[in-house]
Amino acid sequence: MKNCKRFKILSVVGARPNFIKIAPFCSAIKSHKNIDHCLVHTGQHYDAQMSDSFFKDLEIPTPDFNLNVGSASHAVQTAKIMIEFEKVLKKAQPNVVVVVGDVNSTLACSLVASKMGFPVAHIEAGLRSFDRTMPEEINRILTDSISDILFTSCTDANRNLLKEGLPKNRIFFVGNIMIDSLRANQAKANKQRVLELLGLKKGGFCLVTLHRPSNVDNLNILIEIFSALEVIQRHLKVIFPVHPRTQININKLIKTGKIKKSDNLLLIKPLSYLSFFNILQRAKFVITDSGGIQEETTVLGIPCLTVRTNTERPITEEIGTNILVGSDKKALIKESLKVLTGKGKKGTIPKYWDGNTAKRIIKILIRLHTQNILFRYPKSQS
Ligand code: UDP
Repeated sequence: MKNCKRFKILSVVGARPNFIKIAPFCSAIKSHKNIDHCLVHTGQHYDAQMSDSFFKDLEIPTPDFNLNVGSASHAVQTAKIMIEFEKVLKKAQPNVVVVVGDVNSTLACSLVASKMGFPVAHIEAGLRSFDRTMPEEINRILTDSISDILFTSCTDANRNLLKEGLPKNRIFFVGNIMIDSLRANQAKANKQRVLELLGLKKGGFCLVTLHRPSNVDNLNILIEIFSALEVIQRHLKVIFPVHPRTQININKLIKTGKIKKSDNLLLIKPLSYLSFFNILQRAKFVITDSGGIQEETTVLGIPCLTVRTNTERPITEEIGTNILVGSDKKALIKESLKVLTGKGKKGTIPKYWDGNTAKRIIKILIRLHTQNILFRYPKSQS
């Protein structure tokens, strides 16, 4: 970095999808000697499977601060993060606070930073499902409205932000940072031996993930999805790494006999990034309600049946391999059988989902910093 004054960037992670988005950012910063990077982990996800394994697989540096907030209701978790993050910001005094995605940590930290006058940059800005029953949609709208710099992964996100009145000169279309992780870890993922360990063959199984409250906290919907999986497992193996939130309700339903274990439906613990990537690219198709997996399947060319009626990532449906199926049993079975008869959706890869997004973001941040465009507002600290 030439002619650049020292630049202190503080970035925030809290939950599984955040780790995958921050890893390429940390890695791209390393080659800039004038940047001091401070990483804060809020502890929203905290255990070995949902947090530690991602730091290891993705070689994310040990956080400088861990707020250790743990699980709690939305209000309690957001409040705890805000209280602890204010103390961190007072100490760290960064030039910019970088937040990613749409989790409670994203909103809590951008709110604290913005009120303390620190510039906020949001990576993955502008995604909208237009469904305000989704907690993530509230986090997205609020974070974007108070962020100073908005980095988007697709041009429909730019349009959403402009419609909401955000100024054009603060919006930068940089591409999809999650795909940077995918590109950077292909070789390592290929070396994992998950397929053998699980007794699977390439193209011989369907991979399932579910964690959206609208699917897994409503027991009737969860039963409906399981009855579809029961039919699908008669045709091919179904591998389901279960999110901790989902596991609680699956346990309840198994205990009361409302769902039954099936021979070909393998419920396993959540997988580490590299193990999951390994089986994701070898799956016949994927059934999911995850945002990130809709994007990854589009890049890998794997048909994706999304158990939702809307998506904040419409580009994956428009040009990618994604189909919105909802949670209806018949629709899920019908679309699964289509894939099995060779009629799976094919797609193309969106612009700038190329592995270079983190580099583009850092270049822009450095330019804004050098031009004194990123500055701290003289706001009151009280
Ligand atoms: N993922 C993983 N292990 C799993 C399930 C998912 O590594 O057992 C990864 C997946 O590849 C994707 C990310 O987790 O990169 C998606 O996170 P999640 O579905 O929790 O959040 P969302 O994307 O819906 O916000």
